[in-house]
Amino acid sequence: MKHAPKKQPTATVALVGNPNVGKSTVFNALTGMRQHTGNWTGKTVSAAEGVCRRGRVCWRMVDLPGTYSLAARSEEEAVTRTYLCEHTPDAVIAVCDATCLSRSLILALQVMEIHPRTVVCINLIDEATAKGIAVDTCQLEEDLGVPVVTTSARNKQGFDALLSAVEKVLAVPPVPCGVRYTAPITAATACIAAEERVARRALENPADALSLGIPPEELAAAYEAAEAAGLSRERLGQAMAACTVLHAEAVCETAVQYREADCAKRDRRIDRILTGRFTGIPIMLCMLCGILWLTVYGANGLSEWLARLFGWGRAGLEALCVLCGAPWWLQGVLVDGAYGVLSWVVAVMLPPMAIFFPLFTLLEDVGYLPRVAFTLDRGFQRACTCGKQGLTMCMGLGCNAVGVTGCRIMDSPRERVIATVTNSMVPCNGRFPLLIALVPLLFTGYPTSSLRSAAMLVFAVLLGVMMTLLISRFLSHTWLRGMPSSFVLELPPYRTPRIGQVLLRSVLDRTVFVLGRAAAVAAPAGVVIWLLANVTAGGVPLIRLCADFLHPLGRVLGMDGAILLAFILGFPANEIVMPILLMIYTAGGTLTETSTAVMSNILFQNGWTPLTVWCVLLFTLFHWPCSTTCLTVWKETHSVKWTALAVLLPTVLGMALCFVSYVITCLF
Ligand code: GDP
Repeated sequence: MKHAPKKQPTATVALVGNPNVGKSTVFNALTGMRQHTGNWTGKTVSAAEGVCRRGRVCWRMVDLPGTYSLAARSEEEAVTRTYLCEHTPDAVIAVCDATCLSRSLILALQVMEIHPRTVVCINLIDEATAKGIAVDTCQLEEDLGVPVVTTSARNKQGFDALLSAVEKVLAVPPVPCGVRYTAPITAATACIAAEERVARRALENPADALSLGIPPEELAAAYEAAEAAGLSRERLGQAMAACTVLHAEAVCETAVQYREADCAKRDRRIDRILTGRFTGIPIMLCMLCGILWLTVYGANGLSEWLARLFGWGRAGLEALCVLCGAPWWLQGVLVDGAYGVLSWVVAVMLPPMAIFFPLFTLLEDVGYLPRVAFTLDRGFQRACTCGKQGLTMCMGLGCNAVGVTGCRIMDSPRERVIATVTNSMVPCNGRFPLLIALVPLLFTGYPTSSLRSAAMLVFAVLLGVMMTLLISRFLSHTWLRGMPSSFVLELPPYRTPRIGQVLLRSVLDRTVFVLGRAAAVAAPAGVVIWLLANVTAGGVPLIRLCADFLHPLGRVLGMDGAILLAFILGFPANEIVMPILLMIYTAGGTLTETSTAVMSNILFQNGWTPLTVWCVLLFTLFHWPCSTTCLTVWKETHSVKWTALAVLLPTVLGMALCFVSYVITCLF
């Protein structure tokens, strides 16, 4: 049976808006995609594309990074502006925040000046209504001269009206809408000032100007008028910016009614405590400790349960191999190698991830993450960098590769490089399970306590943060000298998290993704390690030879050769370091169980002491980033020098800390 070919998109519609106004939520609802949404500024730094198919509608949708203006000062502004000017989508939806409309309208007005087919979508209308804010859309339509629609994207309300409005603007030929400014500036002058690049191009090529809906003679006349008045381009731009703000405020004055003078009173009260000078940091630490305690406490039981399950699976597989008459080496490669490492990774990694990620996503959804950056800002200022680095570190807690990509939110190239090369100093979730497994070993002989382990993990994260600040300061005073840039960080309103969505998103987007990546590496790595452990040279397994070669270096770092080898072989993914290490120790034998008790027995039988545990903890925190992160650093910086620095900085730091620990222990 032949399938009817899928309808091709008939138009391209771009979504533009300030950060955190719900653009991605609108985009996801219209396209059925799952772009990352989060209650904080700066999480979308590149454009996303999808197709909206609803009834007779079939459009290509483009979700542009959130931006406050089209001035092209930062990466997000540049991406958005270039897209609008050079790709000229057929229509633009300017998404605004109903709870602070006058600010959102500034960008919408700028868009309207350069794009003739704009629809203003006032999102978050449910939040505005709850805060006693009423928006008169008819009045707005009259004042702005473009269709205005209200939506509540989270509740999937208002999309039919939005699509109809876009259809309506697409149905008419593009005519310049211009903006009828209330302030004393002419529409034509405003056109050039706001979009001088387009104007210049338009003068050279009138056909281009027509497609943008700006009549070339109007532009030429406006240019002449501006020059005759002796206005420099810069002055014109400034006048234009001020004018847009005034106009947005004037429009809102008539169209928006407030029941209360200060509708953000509740948020401000909470912020006084959560970001207070004396309360901010203690609360942040308590929250981190609470999350880690829940993770450790919950993960223990789950891990054991999974280990038992995998034990049964192993017995089944072995029986199957015997039944099929598989040779010993095949059984070794498949069961001891691939299955052994894979089941270890799943049993040890899945439980902490399944608990940590939803809790972390919950904090993100409530709007707490930007408050963390705000609280840490003072520290970053002292380190001569920018507080936005705190946000990239929060992203790094999930995955360093994501954190490195997130560094695009930083405007200053100097600070972006600093944030990029230091990102791997916060432990990503690939290393968290390893830290979680190691911490209790520090207290062998004492009764187990999840709270103590959580406190130790908080200490590990804090050590990572402190070292990041120190190294950032060092770089700011040496290779990457410069002043810290100021920045505006918008604190979003506190929002009730959507528990179901958070669970689904964190499990699907993060847990399964990270686990999938680890598993994809674990199974082949298991095969390679098994072969290395069972192929011998002169009666000694190859893996032992490699470990022995590294042993002298390992010793002075408070560890041993096998540990260093495990870290080297774990370069594709940190998650596989521990199973590799256990296989090296049991070389020739087999790793039959995945439980943490078995792990600690094997480790201590191989000469581990509290010093070894401590040094492995330090080295887990500070060593070369995983292959994905290294590749991402290279892609982001296009520089061998910065990529090498991103590898060397944490490695040298980790080695130095381990060496100092070793020397101190030897001395005492
Ligand atoms: P973006 O930065 O503009 O892409 O914003 P997101 O789509 O990531 O949304 C930011 C936050 O606002 C998320 O927590 C969303 O769940 C929430 N959000 C989006 N639209 C609405 C809405 O219409 N009503 C409410 N109450 N929340 C919304």
